[in-house]
Amino acid sequence: MTCSLTHSKTVVNPRMARIHISSDALEAMDSPAVCQQCEDHPCMDACPTGAMVIDEQLGIVVVHPEDCTGCRACEAVCPYAAIFFDPEKDTALKCDLCGGTPECVKTCRLHALTFPTAKEAVIAAGTGGAEDCGNGEDCGCGDSGEEGGDDR
Ligand code: SF4
Ligand code: SF4
Repeated sequence: MTCSLTHSKTVVNPRMARIHISSDALEAMDSPAVCQQCEDHPCMDACPTGAMVIDEQLGIVVVHPEDCTGCRACEAVCPYAAIFFDPEKDTALKCDLCGGTPECVKTCRLHALTFPTAKEAVIAAGTGGAEDCGNGEDCGCGDSGEEGGDDR
């Protein structure tokens, strides 16, 4: 609801949201499907019209709905099932991080959603952490600083 209202300014409709919740009754678990902001952006590569572009400020893929034909090529290649479609315009809907401060994260009362900084994400991924790289605490490069590592 927050997502649709934030983007439309007037409409509260889960079908207009860029994050969807699926429920597994057997496991008694709900889980969100939302864009993981892939670095290799297969959705953008699959788009035949150029409706998906990199937002230069955020560094993520965003949709220009005026160029979207609703062909669903992006939906077919998204590994996280994170592309949805506007039920009226039939154009692709994708998380755009609300310009950098996701409203869903702010309104999730149970803090199930997080929006980590680059440094927090590196530490959570267990790839060494920015403190270890020798480039300064806020570097965020994920380099452990060790020499001669395996490059595979
Ligand atoms: S929409 Fe899907 S493929 Fe595109 S960046 Fe997000 S998760 Fe990756
Ligand atoms: S549905 Fe729209 S954004 Fe997705 S691939 Fe087709 S034209 Fe591009």
